[in-house]
Amino acid sequence: MNEELFTRISIIWIVAGIVLFPVLLFIKQPYGRHTSKKWGILMDNQLGWLLMEVPSPLLFSILFFTGQNSHKTVNILIYSLWMLHYVHRTFIFPFLTKTKGKKIPVLIVLLGIFFNLVNAGLNGYFIGHFQETYQTAWIFSFPFITGVILFFTGMYINIRSDYTLISLRKKPGNGYKIPYGGMFKYVSCPNYLGEMIEWTGFALLSWNFASLAFAVWTYANLIPRALNHHKWYRSYFKDYPEKRKAVFPFIL
Ligand code: NDP
Repeated sequence: MNEELFTRISIIWIVAGIVLFPVLLFIKQPYGRHTSKKWGILMDNQLGWLLMEVPSPLLFSILFFTGQNSHKTVNILIYSLWMLHYVHRTFIFPFLTKTKGKKIPVLIVLLGIFFNLVNAGLNGYFIGHFQETYQTAWIFSFPFITGVILFFTGMYINIRSDYTLISLRKKPGNGYKIPYGGMFKYVSCPNYLGEMIEWTGFALLSWNFASLAFAVWTYANLIPRALNHHKWYRSYFKDYPEKRKAVFPFIL
């Protein structure tokens, strides 16, 4: 694939994310607390997460190691950041959740697989195959340094918040509690805020349309889900902290 075609496909994917964002505001993504039989056959939640996420590190790795850039310093660094996130998300996170016995619609798993194939496909292809993109000096550039800081800040907020949520449940099936501490002081879904900061950082440090597309899609997925969670918290807990926002402190 030449770079021009690649850029066109990435831009189409960005436009699709922007166009679908308002639609997703009206759809409750049916997993976790919003799971629903209306979306067809259900399957085991933890297995569903593994199947949904595993295409991402796999495809990215295949595209990276079959490309001509797998020996280049900047490309190796960018590849490592992607893998750092996805090895945790695929092989660690699902098995720490206390969701044994919970179900996820097969359709959501299939959509997740498609989503991950497109994003890992575009990002892995770019990092593995486009030769002229990065010189070693890129590591000292403003976008790269700012991007790395945002990436790790976002990852810290995301993982810390996810683990706070997971620890609220002493055993599988014992429902939901109000989370406190860390960024929960300001928002209902700091795990999503962290995820958005992380992929904004990745888009900056790798500076291409594929990574921008993934950041756009992360916002399109997680802002609506955060608004739904926030609404759910407010109706479920009468003593829910009043000043807490959904996902962006003091704003939304
Ligand atoms: P949630 O916040 O819905 O749930 C995270 C875990 O915590 C689940 O196991 C959930 O259980 C449990 N949990 C949540 N709230 C409570 C509570 N109040 N009391 C007790 N347990 C709770 O996150 P998601 O499952 O939607 O997402 C998981 C991760 O995946 C996040 O880090 C998110 O950022 C990321 N993600 C990224 C996307 C992207 O586009 N890049 C898209 C979707 C997710 P249960 O499942 O039973 O509700």
